[in-house]
Amino acid sequence: MRQSLIMGNWKMNGNRESSAALCNAIVAGLGENTNATVAVCVPYVYLADLQALTSNTPLKLGAQNVAAKESGAYTGEVSAIMLKEFGCTYALVGHSERRSYYGDTDESVAERFCQAQKQGVIPVLCIGETLEERQQGKTFTVVNTQLDAVIAKAGITAFANAVIAYEPVWAIGTGVTATDEQAQEVHKAIRERIAGLDAVIAEKIQILYGGSMKADNAKGLLTMPDIDGGLIGGASLDAQSFLKIYHSV
Ligand code: PEP
Repeated sequence: MRQSLIMGNWKMNGNRESSAALCNAIVAGLGENTNATVAVCVPYVYLADLQALTSNTPLKLGAQNVAAKESGAYTGEVSAIMLKEFGCTYALVGHSERRSYYGDTDESVAERFCQAQKQGVIPVLCIGETLEERQQGKTFTVVNTQLDAVIAKAGITAFANAVIAYEPVWAIGTGVTATDEQAQEVHKAIRERIAGLDAVIAEKIQILYGGSMKADNAKGLLTMPDIDGGLIGGASLDAQSFLKIYHSV
C-alpha cells in the first residue's frame, strides 16, 4: 500500500510574513492523519524561516527547482547541497513553468534530478502534455519521452527514491481539471512503463496528480488506484483549502 503525498507548490507568491502565517496555519490544522505525507514547495528565500517553523512538525519542505550542477560559477542557481542544508526533503524538477518559461530541457531536468538525489533530496519529476499535444493524440508519447530522458540518465533504480507528478499543462492554473479517468489512464501508463523496467519500483513509486486540484475535486482523483497524491498550486495558498485536500485522503 503506497502512502499518499499531498504537496503544495506556492510558486512565486506571498511575502515573508504571509509565508510564515500560511505555514503556521497549515501546521495547526494537520491533526493526526496517518494516511498521507504533507509537504510544501516554497520560494528559496523563505526556506530558512520555514525550516524553523516546521522542524518537529509533520510538514515537510520542498524547493521548486534545483541546480543541474553541484557548485561553481552558476549565477542565480541554488544547489541541492544548499537545499539539504535548509531542510528540504523534496525538490520539484521539470515543472512545466520551468520548461516553458526558463528553457528547462529533458536533459537539464535529468541533471537536476540526479543532483537532488545525490544529496538526499527527493526529486519530484514533473511531466505532462500541453493541450495541443493531447488533441493530437500525443499524450503518452510526450509523457514517455519526458520520463525516459530521466531514466536514461539516472537509471531506473534511482526511481526507488523519487516521486513523479503527472501534470497536464492544460490543467495547471486554468481551473480545468483532468477527469478522474483521464488522470488515472495516464498514471497507469506511467506505472506500467516503469514496471517494464522494474516491477518493484513501479509498485512503490508515488505518482501525484497536479492541475487545478481543489477541495471539491480532490477526493475523486485521490481514490483512483494509480493516483498517490496531489501537487497543488493555487489551492495550496489557502490553508483551509489545502488542509481539506489533505484530510480528504
Ligand atoms: C502546479 O503548479 O503544479 C499546479 C498544479 O498548479 P494549480 O494547482 O494551480 O493548477
